Amino acid sequence: MDHITETCREIKDKLSAYLDGELETALCAEIEQHLRGCDNCRVMVDTLNKTITLYRNYGQDEVPPDAHTRLTRVLNLERLKMKIQQST
Ligand SMILES: [Zn+2]
Repeated sequence: MDHITETCREIKDKLSAYLDGELETALCAEIEQHLRGCDNCRVMVDTLNKTITLYRNYGQDEVPPDAHTRLTRVLNLERLKMKIQQST
């Protein structure tokens, strides 16, 4: 599935507000739910996540402190990491 829907466009528009923690909880949940089912948007978030990690590594302060946490939660990386740790 690689077609971009109207929802994807909306998500993209809201993503920076989402990462800044400016969205209402209901909207955040909406975005997170969409991301779970949409590869396009997950790739987009994954790219953002990597970008933020890079910024962090370079000591940039303009990245909101919550952004990485939110992205990680969205991508379920913590769960994945735990799985990897458990299987090794
Ligand atoms: Zn999408």
